[in-house]
Amino acid sequence: MGLRIVVVGIPGVGKTTVVEGIVSGFPGAKLVSFGTVMLEAALALKWVKHRDDLRRLTVEKQKKLQKLAATKISKMQGRAVLVDTHLFIRTEEGFWPGLPFDVVRALKPTHLVLVEAAPEEIARRRSADKTRYRDAATTESLAEELAMARGFLTVTSTLTGAPMFIVRNAEGRQAEAAQTVVRMLEKAGR
Ligand code: ATP
Ligand code: AMP
Ligand code: MG
Repeated sequence: MGLRIVVVGIPGVGKTTVVEGIVSGFPGAKLVSFGTVMLEAALALKWVKHRDDLRRLTVEKQKKLQKLAATKISKMQGRAVLVDTHLFIRTEEGFWPGLPFDVVRALKPTHLVLVEAAPEEIARRRSADKTRYRDAATTESLAEELAMARGFLTVTSTLTGAPMFIVRNAEGRQAEAAQTVVRMLEKAGR
């Protein structure tokens, strides 16, 4: 059975950037973006035009897309499958879990990786990235989101029995963050 790594972190922290670095440093690793799989289904249904419209759908619709994505991703196999996703989503109906029990059970993670950065860094990354429509935030609200992420991570680890590996994605040091995770995976995959 290969490694199944679920990579999480709050929006704009640098998950996709770090995951791409991990995949290029770990031969045979496959990358899947949970959000992209949801987006493809939502585009086919004409529910959205952009990935940042997904969290504005009703939670009922988001749940349908989430379930479809989990089923599809659960079938992926390989030496290491890395899933780029979220612990929780800020929806118009409140904070909503990205990895409720049925979803995380289907994903069967062997490892959970939480990407973190300082609130000030995340605020700058969110406002500088013009490819996305990320929610604006204050350093105080980002500190709250970071704390909430650790809470959700603890629950996910307890539900799955998978260890939680916390990696700091410091400013300009995305390659180092990726390398830290690659070293952990090399040990796990021995
Ligand atoms: P989302 O949850 O919205 O998909 P994300 O966590 O995947 O966000 P990225 O898209 O990887 O975040 O990164 C957000 C922005 O921050 C991008 O413009 C990216 O280039 C930049 N970035 C990522 N890591 C770093 C870093 N270590 N130093 C500086 N900029 C970074
Ligand atoms: P991303 O590019 O990772 O931000 O993914 C795009 C969007 O997909 C996110 O902003 C969420 O709306 C949605 N998404 C990603 N992962 C999940 C998940 N596990 N559960 C629900 N929605 C998700
Ligand atoms: Mg991303």
